[in-house]
Amino acid sequence: MSNQEIRERETVVIIGSGPAAWTAAIYAARAQMKPFVFEGAGSRTMIPGGQLMFTTEVENYPGFRAGVMGPDLMVEMREQALSFGTRSIWEDIVDIDPGQYPFRLRSNTDTEVLADSVILATGANAKWLGLENEERLAQSGGGVSACAVCDGALPHFRGDTLAVIGGGDSAMEDALYLTKFAEQVIVIHRRDKFRASRIMSERALAHDKIRVEWNKLVTEVIGNETITALRLQDTVSGEVSELEVRGMFVAIGHTPNTGFLNGVIELKENGYVQTPTAWRTETSVPGIFAAGDVMDDYFRQAVTAAGTGCMAALEAERWLAHGGAKGHEEP
Ligand code: NAP
Repeated sequence: MSNQEIRERETVVIIGSGPAAWTAAIYAARAQMKPFVFEGAGSRTMIPGGQLMFTTEVENYPGFRAGVMGPDLMVEMREQALSFGTRSIWEDIVDIDPGQYPFRLRSNTDTEVLADSVILATGANAKWLGLENEERLAQSGGGVSACAVCDGALPHFRGDTLAVIGGGDSAMEDALYLTKFAEQVIVIHRRDKFRASRIMSERALAHDKIRVEWNKLVTEVIGNETITALRLQDTVSGEVSELEVRGMFVAIGHTPNTGFLNGVIELKENGYVQTPTAWRTETSVPGIFAAGDVMDDYFRQAVTAAGTGCMAALEAERWLAHGGAKGHEEP
């Protein structure tokens, strides 16, 4: 689609291309809102489609009793949205002017688009250690993951030794979850004290399948087809060691993709979008809604993202139908 065509005034612009974005698009398209989706320009670490593009088998998305590959699920969601008339472009929105109505949005190619309503669904990225082999084995299903709840139950991880990297609540939760499948779970933490809440730390430390490698940094992920070991470095003594594992779960936090929203809408202290009313997706700016991981620092599941995508589209439709836009002054 050429830039010329999208200088139109759109009823709803959706930013993102994960489950939240495509579900919002499906609902908006079926409601005759002709959604326009900015799927993202893609980069070395993020491709349109979101985090599921980095996942292999998804076994907890309802409707697929034999499981579904993450990228296949995203293709299906996208095609479903397009089949109802959704239009899309592979560009990022880099700026939104909330002071003007209709909202004025600018993309990374300097394309401008006007929007009566906006749905933010840019997601969050799991943080990675940034090691060679890590991303490759995560993408190939080689035993490296940033989501224990998504991947932990896969056959590959059963009955063996798994590593969890991190010392926060996510790492504790992941380690405890993985004890259901693993023979042993080794938490690798770079300090001698967990950041996690006391209750979560104690629960993990008390579990007979969990042990901790304190003061250790992972310096290398070893393995060709699948992970076989980790190279560790002691942060105190500098000593280097090798640890045999069949899986590595990175749990060192997430970063919401909200950099372009600074000063546009209210963000929480941790950078996620603030949606002030429970069970609503409207942000601090009426007419701008948020769905999926960009506003959810708690559940972060594909199915919850899809659910909030549906909510955002319904809210945008109702907001427009009930004259919400009248509260904004048009130039
Ligand atoms: P977090 O609290 O930021 O913890 C991240 C952990 O990863 C820290 O221990 C940190 O080490 C470590 N880390 C960060 N970068 C690293 C690196 N490059 N190499 C090695 N280690 C690294 O993140 P989170 O655990 O995802 O939790 C995020 C928020 O969600 C928290 O508020 C948490 O309480 C909440 N949460 C709650 C629950 C629950 O209540 N059930 C479950 C999950 C998350 P340092 O400690 O040395 O900085």
